[in-house]
Amino acid sequence: MPKKIAIIGSGFSSLAAACYLAKEGHNVHIYEKNETIGGRARQYKRDGYTFDIGPTWYWMPDVFERFFSDFGKSPSDYYELIKLGPAYRVYFGKKDYITIGDTLEKIKKVFEEEESGSAIKLQKFIDDAQSNYDIAIKDLVYRPGVSPLELVTPQTMTRIGKFFSTIAKEVRKEFNNPRLVAILEFPVLFLGAKPSNTPAFYSFMNYADFGIGTFHPKDGMYSVIQGMATLAQELGVNIHTHSDVTSIQTEGVIATGIEVNNAFAKADLILSGADYHHTETLLPQHLRQYSEKYWDSKTFAPSSLLFYVGFNKKLKNVDHHTLFFDVDFAQHAEAIYDNPQWPEKPLFYASFPSMTDSSAAPEGKEAGIFLIPLAPGLEDTPELRQQYFDIIMDRFEKLTDQKVLDFVNFKASFCVNDFIKDYNSYKGNAYGMANTLLQTAFLRPKLKSKKVKNLYFTGQLTVPGPGVPPSLISGKLTAQLITKNK
Ligand SMILES: Cc1cc2nc3c(=O)[nH]c(=O)nc-3n(C[C@H](O)[C@H](O)[C@H](O)COP(=O)(O)OP(=O)(O)OC[C@H]3O[C@@H](n4cnc5c(N)ncnc54)[C@H](O)[C@@H]3O)c2cc1C
Repeated sequence: MPKKIAIIGSGFSSLAAACYLAKEGHNVHIYEKNETIGGRARQYKRDGYTFDIGPTWYWMPDVFERFFSDFGKSPSDYYELIKLGPAYRVYFGKKDYITIGDTLEKIKKVFEEEESGSAIKLQKFIDDAQSNYDIAIKDLVYRPGVSPLELVTPQTMTRIGKFFSTIAKEVRKEFNNPRLVAILEFPVLFLGAKPSNTPAFYSFMNYADFGIGTFHPKDGMYSVIQGMATLAQELGVNIHTHSDVTSIQTEGVIATGIEVNNAFAKADLILSGADYHHTETLLPQHLRQYSEKYWDSKTFAPSSLLFYVGFNKKLKNVDHHTLFFDVDFAQHAEAIYDNPQWPEKPLFYASFPSMTDSSAAPEGKEAGIFLIPLAPGLEDTPELRQQYFDIIMDRFEKLTDQKVLDFVNFKASFCVNDFIKDYNSYKGNAYGMANTLLQTAFLRPKLKSKKVKNLYFTGQLTVPGPGVPPSLISGKLTAQLITKNK
């Protein structure tokens, strides 16, 4: 029986779930509070410059291919992918950087120059990471996190140690050079926790990085959102923007619909892709599954301070993605996870989409995105934002040996308060709940409510976790669970 399904939010996970549910014949409506779709992956346009507000790294292209192929389509039907070469650059000091090329052979050469004997070790490390990738991304992450037994397979049994060791330990077993260690620990930062708190099994992120590579969708990550929205509409999904859901209405333990823009929208089933904690606040207290204490005890992925800068000249000595690891990561990580405060000396990341994609800035100009990871829940004021802009611009000028401050056409910022205001994000987290050992798979918040019979969840706070590819998978998992429970 086709059902009327109300989906809260229009991020990657909601759009993915909507496509699968519409394909099953349901009458699907997406309600998005903001004026544009995409959630964390919205777009900011100003004076001829275009910025992705959130994600900029397109990794794991096979996950996107698998998603579109479920509908007889391919990503190239909706957007154009460009493989970045080099993939990125990492600064460790003034004019001192390592370039990560677009093939493992090129990267091995760079490693060997840094530390003799490391090319062979890297090949071994990546071979092992590839085995983890095959087990995780082709199979495990497509399991719904219902039971611990999902993790028990002949392949995982031979790798049980990888769940209890950490990325930090495994990397250091093989590599001594601190620069190589930092580069190999970087990919798991996408999972939201410290490398010393992330299971070694997640080294599949290193295979995604070095083994598969980094891509840029032409016109930015937002073109993926647009592609998915087009597919959803082709399948019959109705998308309502400016539609703030203010409560989930219930009768007993059944959800009857949602209250949106002061009107009642009846639904047979509700699926929320909004932040999990926020969704539960839309319910009466006794129908919430997780307490405030539960959320407070969890390791959340960082929040971020972001700047979107229109430069009125082309920049030099940077690549499309450039990381600034010239300060101590351990100290910054402590300020994020152990002793939440604004970091004294922040690491930061910069992206210049206009270096690859002429559509991102007017001719002869550069679009720059800067990101400093921060602890969620920090005080966020205009003065602090400006203070940190000055800090990173000063470092940027020195490290890359060029003047940029005099060439800023405009800058816009996004930080903790915006994450809360725009996305109802818990403590202003940027990318959900971290993938630590105790927050993996069946230990994450559930896809189906235990208290409200026809309420489901999707997105970066559920399984499999943070990031765009996991969000696509999350949408599929929830849709499958709904179909199974029909
Ligand atoms: C700064 C930043 C950088 C990132 N970088 C990368 C990267 O490079 N690569 C990568 O793979 N991942 C990256 N990520 C992570 C990735 O963007 C997210 O994991 C993913 O986009 C989350 O999608 P989602 O569907 O779970 O949630 P969201 O995108 O947050 O979607 C939830 C939606 O629900 C809406 N909503 C909330 N409350 C309501 C309500 N009451 N009524 C109606 N609508 C509501 C919100 O407005 C939002 O649109 C980054 C994230 C951020 C923030």
